[in-house]
Amino acid sequence: MEKPRISYTALSAYERCPLSYRFQYVDGLAPEVTPHLVFGRAVHAALQWFYDRDVPVPPSLDELLLYLEGCWSREGFSSEEESHLFLEHARAVLSCFYRHNADSFRLPVAVEHRFELDMGDIWLTGVIDRVDRHDDGRYEVLDYKTNRRLPELSKLKEDLQLPIYQIACRQVFGINPAKLTFYFVVPNQRYSTRPLDEESLERVVARLRDVGSRIAQGEFPARPGRLCPWCDYYDICPEGKGSQDVESSFISRYRALLRRKKALERMIGELEEEMRALGLDFSGEEECLANPL
Ligand code: SF4
Repeated sequence: MEKPRISYTALSAYERCPLSYRFQYVDGLAPEVTPHLVFGRAVHAALQWFYDRDVPVPPSLDELLLYLEGCWSREGFSSEEESHLFLEHARAVLSCFYRHNADSFRLPVAVEHRFELDMGDIWLTGVIDRVDRHDDGRYEVLDYKTNRRLPELSKLKEDLQLPIYQIACRQVFGINPAKLTFYFVVPNQRYSTRPLDEESLERVVARLRDVGSRIAQGEFPARPGRLCPWCDYYDICPEGKGSQDVESSFISRYRALLRRKKALERMIGELEEEMRALGLDFSGEEECLANPL
């Protein structure tokens, strides 16, 4: 098996329920697109665009809202009206963000920065929303959240996302951030914390490696619990009891995989057509895959 690729999202999915991780990351069954997912993606995209400038001058609020509308997707909404309501909410959230941040606008050190770190037995991957450098020379890592309200403090303190970004900042930019911040843009509240010490960081890395080795060994036990009814894979999970019996859960899962296979075949066909048009030769690729050595 290839070296596992662990991101913060993959780590939390595995720790919540290894079987749901398998459905999403191994079988490739994407979770359902929900209005909240569309909302979160569009707000993130607009904030990325807001800060991704060549000069330290922010765009106008009208331009920001126009950009938001351009990247809005109607997928996942039950009606035009629902999509409109969510879009209006996103406009209000970005307007509030603008009022609080446009005057102090400065160019960040990094915006929406993707990283992929070779940690030996795993790849550590992720995307850092923003890194700022303050006047005193200290760095702050920010991650935007689109939850309606802040989670409990105990949950925020235990969360590994910002410590993972701390590790990435050291290796990618060679900097030690002095502040790690979750920016909850809906209530416009920040939760900031100091970076972890060496010992705590080592514990984070050990946890990542532990999950990586379980994934590499194909350990995907179900971890049923009270949150099963809210799981994206409730209908196809033999443990989730969303399907009427074990047999129908297997059939649902089989159907879901067939749908995924069809989608992949379509995408491969489209890519082959593009490659043909460019005169690229891909005839030996299937053979290479069958005999990787
Ligand atoms: S329904 Fe429950 S046991 Fe099944 S994959 Fe989802 S969380 Fe895991």
